[in-house]
Amino acid sequence: MQAEIITIGDELLIGQVLDTNSAFIGRELNKIGVSVYQITSIQDDKSHILKAFSEAEKNADVIIITGGLGPTKDDITKKAIAEYFNDTLVRNLAVQENIEALWKLYVRQTLLQVNLDQAYVPSKAKVLMNTLGTAPGMWLEKGDKTFISLPGVPFEMRNLIVKEVVPKLKGKYETPFILHKTLLIYGLGESTLANRIEAWEDQLPSHIKLAYLPGIGKMRLRVSSKGFDEQKVIDDVQRQIDNVMPLIEKEFVGFEDEGQTMEAFIGKKLSGLNLSLAVAESCTGGKLAERFTSNSGASGYFKGCIVSYSTESKINVLGVSKDIIDKYSVVSGQVAEAMAMQTIKKFNSDYAIATTGNAGPTKGEANAEVGTVFIALATKQGVISEEFMFGQPRERVVNKAISKALEMLQKEILKN
Ligand code: AMP
Ligand code: MG
Repeated sequence: MQAEIITIGDELLIGQVLDTNSAFIGRELNKIGVSVYQITSIQDDKSHILKAFSEAEKNADVIIITGGLGPTKDDITKKAIAEYFNDTLVRNLAVQENIEALWKLYVRQTLLQVNLDQAYVPSKAKVLMNTLGTAPGMWLEKGDKTFISLPGVPFEMRNLIVKEVVPKLKGKYETPFILHKTLLIYGLGESTLANRIEAWEDQLPSHIKLAYLPGIGKMRLRVSSKGFDEQKVIDDVQRQIDNVMPLIEKEFVGFEDEGQTMEAFIGKKLSGLNLSLAVAESCTGGKLAERFTSNSGASGYFKGCIVSYSTESKINVLGVSKDIIDKYSVVSGQVAEAMAMQTIKKFNSDYAIATTGNAGPTKGEANAEVGTVFIALATKQGVISEEFMFGQPRERVVNKAISKALEMLQKEILKN
């Protein structure tokens, strides 16, 4: 069973709004075994819309459309649907009641004609009631093809997909079970990883698919399979994961599909060992700390962070000696180590990690080359630091620094 997603809206084509609707719909369809064979984004233009519909009808069984259902003149999806289905728009009383109720609850002003017009739907459409907004969802059938039109507003669309579209599709089509297991791996580049697991990859049966998804400082390895026998799919994938695991044991952090992240992994280890962490950040600007604090329960192991971005704050707030900075420069291993040592002391934590670097694009106070980052890790036993060259652009330097800091910490904690 194949699906196509068509997103409609001028704003998508000029890059003003990112098409997050397709990503969400793709994920939800995938979960119920529907393959999305194409995603198309088009303007609010009737001839384009009609052309996209007829193209999609040739290739897909299910066509999911979002956008263009607003009350204003620029939104024309409903008219295009009526034309495509050789249909007329008729007033739907239930939709009108929904609009009036929403208006009373949230807007409390006179209902305008343009809003009442949203209660008009093609007579051949089954309405998917949008309880969160005024634009109704619509379900239309043409032979064995299904067209589903949804509002563009992401939270309204998501609600309709989950509550209406997915259950209806499951009822109408028999779909295979799809399983993805995504292994999160730190500290191995794409080619090193590929090299290491080559023999395993070569013996994979054809119904098991493998994908490498490189990220900044991390790798994701997705193992997928699908079939109508759910248990067999689960067992087949698990067998292959069991086989590859010994090859990546040291670098494997968890399964992304189960919500695992490197920071959650570290947090869990620290909690389990009853140990704590504090952070001092210069070039990463607080983003490393945020990785930890975005997990609920982080206060159990994360003591805090000092964002000592300026040299002055490294001296006055963190207590790094001015002599060390003068002697070695603010972007140096010695300063990173002093930052980590001061942090472990001030927070009385078991571990402290510190970053200092030149993220670019211009050179700062220090003479260090753009892209240079020093990361130090202090424990009760002592302190170590490493120098890295992360190149450019700035965003990549910061993200790589965060990944490396997490990786250094993970390696140290795993010694316990
Ligand atoms: P519309 O249904 O065309 O009136 O869309 C309403 C709003 O939803 C737009 O202003 C966008 O901000 C948002 N929107 C529309 N399409 C998408 C999409 N594909 N992804 C994310 N947001 C969208
Ligand atoms: Mg629009």
